[in-house]
Amino acid sequence: MSDYQLTPIAFIESPYKQKFAIPRQPRLIPEAKAKCKFVGEFNREEFVRGIEDFSHVWLIFRFHETADKGWSPLVRPPRLGGNDKKGVFATRATFRPNGIGMSAVKLEGVHYENGQLWLELSGIDLLDGTPILDIKPYLPYSDSLPNATAGFADTRPETPLVVEFADQAITFCENNSALYPELQSFIEKVMPLRIGHDGPPHINPVRICIQENRLVGIAEAVRPTFFRYRDYGPSAAAIERTTAEWS
Ligand code: SAH
Repeated sequence: MSDYQLTPIAFIESPYKQKFAIPRQPRLIPEAKAKCKFVGEFNREEFVRGIEDFSHVWLIFRFHETADKGWSPLVRPPRLGGNDKKGVFATRATFRPNGIGMSAVKLEGVHYENGQLWLELSGIDLLDGTPILDIKPYLPYSDSLPNATAGFADTRPETPLVVEFADQAITFCENNSALYPELQSFIEKVMPLRIGHDGPPHINPVRICIQENRLVGIAEAVRPTFFRYRDYGPSAAAIERTTAEWS
């Protein structure tokens, strides 16, 4: 058996700063925008010439946050409530030999600015800082398999939770619309996922990170808490701003 060393060609800049609220697969939240910034010798326009003709691309990446944390042949898919074990190769688990992930995402644009080549992507499910190992165009005639079946993951994960915004939270989203145009709708979709990931609904503080007047992401609140997710039962919830200050 041979060992391989892989070199990242690019890194992801994503609004997901922690694993906790990332959708389980790409395109579940179209508002999740990211930049894919090329590095080193790959930071040259010729590497992506023609890619703008494709609406979607495959990202092959390293699960860098969990890659060193080991794996086992059997995993408990969250879909099955953690009660049933499946072979790691029968799942999309992050803890796997070689720690490689794949996501088909929407290509919104190709940019070359100030010596930096980057792809504008949406609907991503990747953590901030994820190393990209390869990029390939999505080929609908071959990659799309409408009649395929998918066992325990046959349907799109849905959550019945609705997120309601406190007035301050709406104002905040409006004030930041130039920086993140779909912030409110992004939060609306991310928040129920947080509940979905962790099982039974409970109050989870989250914060919207703002640095130098720029939205940099949603992270689990350490302290102080900026938004509080308030569960009002099975169908309603609110995100409330709980302190006067933003970081
Ligand atoms: N579409 C991919 C990812 C599926 S697993 C594939 O099928 O291979 C999805 C989970 O990966 C997300 O919920 C997120 O928590 C996790 N994830 C995303 N980027 C990651 C990274 N860089 N390191 C570790 N985990 C990551």
